[in-house]
Order: sequence, then structure tokens, then C-alpha cells
Amino acid sequence: MYQLQELRTNPALLKLDLYCKGMRMDDSCFIEEDGGRKVLRTRAGLGSGLEVVLPGNLWTNVPVTEHFVERSPYTLHKGRDGRYVVHHQGEPVTAVTLSPRPSWYEEMTSSGKPMTRVGTLQGTYLGVYPAKVCEYWTEKPEKTNCKFCSVGLNLGVDDADDKTVEEVMEVVRAARRGSGITYVDFNTGHYQGDTYLDILEPFILRIKEELGLLVGVQTPPHRDLKRYDHLREIGVNRVSFCFEIFDRDLFVEICPGKHAEYGLDHYLEAVRYCAELGKRGPKDEPWVSNGEIIAGLEPPESSIAAIDWITSVGAIPTVCVFRPLKGTDLAAAEPPKTEDVVPVYRRLYEACMEAGLPIGCAPNVHVSLVMLPEEARYLSTKRYPWQSFKLKAMAQVVRRRLDRKMAAAEARMAA
Ligand code: SF4
Repeated sequence: MYQLQELRTNPALLKLDLYCKGMRMDDSCFIEEDGGRKVLRTRAGLGSGLEVVLPGNLWTNVPVTEHFVERSPYTLHKGRDGRYVVHHQGEPVTAVTLSPRPSWYEEMTSSGKPMTRVGTLQGTYLGVYPAKVCEYWTEKPEKTNCKFCSVGLNLGVDDADDKTVEEVMEVVRAARRGSGITYVDFNTGHYQGDTYLDILEPFILRIKEELGLLVGVQTPPHRDLKRYDHLREIGVNRVSFCFEIFDRDLFVEICPGKHAEYGLDHYLEAVRYCAELGKRGPKDEPWVSNGEIIAGLEPPESSIAAIDWITSVGAIPTVCVFRPLKGTDLAAAEPPKTEDVVPVYRRLYEACMEAGLPIGCAPNVHVSLVMLPEEARYLSTKRYPWQSFKLKAMAQVVRRRLDRKMAAAEARMAA
């Protein structure tokens, strides 16, 4: 167990410890009355918790409903002064801020759907799951969904099924106006015929044309990798491939649908292929290829091997912490130990810096469901002054270009 002093002074350690142990809420907490976000039922695979902002401006989503939370040393209390304070075994650790609930969360689209059934904020960006449920959940004779996944439990409860371009655009505009979002992330599951990129393209084109925001897509790896050349051309900024597990046997066991349809090698090839596309234009649109893994579903050394492989091909790893969500096939499993995931995140930061990858450059993008590579710097004693200087300069360029794109889109729409 970590010392109280370490948890008080190292927000990345606290973020990881809260992911791994969760937190109970004291009766003094009135999250929604105090402007916080409702704890949504399991959504988008890994999120189910309370959205708060830790010191260092680290946004996070803390487990509050899963089985392991009952024995957590963490509790959240509201003090007499109205501040929310995280306690560890009864001792105050730090004050936190509730992630603000946007006013558009209460609004409806013109078609009569609650806006939160079309898209929700995850940290400070808008996440949209625009199409029907991933077909691994409906496969016959037996479903082949990933064992940790909750998407098929959730859709139709918190999320609307198919969403029209108009509905999504209304929500994106509301989130831009009300929450100042700069980035929209589209997420789909697997559909027969690899239709996910065709489904997403109309949404992407409209957002780029009308708002000029950054856009990312997270889908299975299309069998025709040339399709990503086109995504690069139309201004997509991020493609993300969730292969989750680098250990081949565990991949087959935990992700049977992904294994049968695409196989781990095709995921890896997509990550590598897309990283290469960074060299192409449009030069004024940033581009990253992400390989996404879940720490805690395989041994730490295997997660570290995945990080080293992803960064070796010029892509950026996204590392989630396994959360045994209620209702999933792995609901009864244990979350990882913090001690086991700290070295994984330390390597995440160091590998990205050593490879000179563009981390932390997207303006105003704080992510609650994962710890970002740049946030993991608090876990490393290594310093990279030249690379840090370059990243600061790069972030300024990205910010300026984005401001120009958003202003140009606004002028186009006003004309
Ligand atoms: S591919 Fe796996 S993780 Fe993604 S939605 Fe389908 S079952 Fe869930």
C-alpha cells in the first residue's frame, strides 16, 4: 500500500489507485444536486463511475458501483465548506472537483431524444457511439463479445440505437457551445461487411465542414487498410485500434470475436499502417494512430511489451485499467493491483518520450477513462527537456491551427 504522503503529492498515483480500488460515497455527498455528472450505467466498455477532477487537472472516472469498491480504503466526503474531499482510511488525501454537468445534458434533440442518449462528455471531449450494438453481442449460435465489455448490456438503456447525422450534429453543436469541446470521438463495434467506416464518414464530413473540430474514430481494423488513406485525406485526426491484449493466448480467450474476425496480427498491422500515414497530408491536420490495451488482463510485462511494440512503429499506446464491470462476463474478476500497473504507465510515458511521439498536444482534451501518457510523467524520475520543449511548441501550433479551422468553419456557416 502506498503512503498517504505519496498519494497526496502524486496525482497520477492517486488516479491509478482509485481506478484499481474504487471509492465509496459518504452520505454527505449530493453529486447531482452539486452540479456533478450522474453515474451512468456501464457505457463504452469501461466507464461506469463518478467523474471528478484530481489535482494537476487530471480528469478521472472512479469506480463506485463494482464489487471491489466495498472494500476500498477510499471514501468521498462533502465538507461543511461544500468542498468534496477524498479520504483514505479516514484520513483526508485531497480535495477534488466534481466534473461539471453541462446544461445541454437536460436538452432534447429536435427528434425528441435526450441529448445524453446521443453523446456524452468523457472528461472534456464528446464521445458518440452512433450505430447499433456491436454484432459480437448478437452472433448465433453463441455471442462472441469481448469478456470485459459492457456495450451490449448498455445500448438501448443509456444510449439510443441508430443516430442520424442531424441528431449527432445537434449534440455536437450543443457540446461546443455549452462545454467548449474541441474533440469528438466516434466509437463503433464490429458489423458484418466492415461497414463501420462507411457509417462514420457522413458524421466526420459534417463536423469538419461545420465546426472544424478534431475528430477521432475507434473501430475494428478495416480489412482494406487503404481506407485509412481516405480518412487521413478528409481530416480525421486519430484512429484507434483496440486489440486490448498482446498475449496471443489471452487475446483468443478474452476477445473471441476479434480473434475470429480479424486476428491480432491484423490489428497490429492496422496500427503500424496508420502510423505511417502521419507523413502524408493534409499537413495542417494532426494525425495519430493509437493501439489500445487494457492493463490488468495480462501480466504487466506483456503490457509493457505491447507498449514497446506500439511506440516502435510510431503509434501511441492508449492504456486502460481493467475494471470488472457489473453484468459482464468478467464481473466477478479482480481489478489489477496498483503496484502492478504503475510500472506499465511509467513505461508508457518513457517509451513515448524516447520515441519522440506527439503526446499531450490536443488542446483541451482531458480524458477520464484512461490515464494519458503525459499524465504518467508523475510516475517517472526521467526528464526529457528537449522533447518536452518540442511538445510545448507542437501543442501551440496545433492550438493555433485548430482555432483557425474552427473560425473558418464558423465563417462558412455564417455566409
Ligand atoms: S469489439 Fe469487443 S469491446 Fe468492442 S464493442 Fe464489440 S464486444 Fe465490446
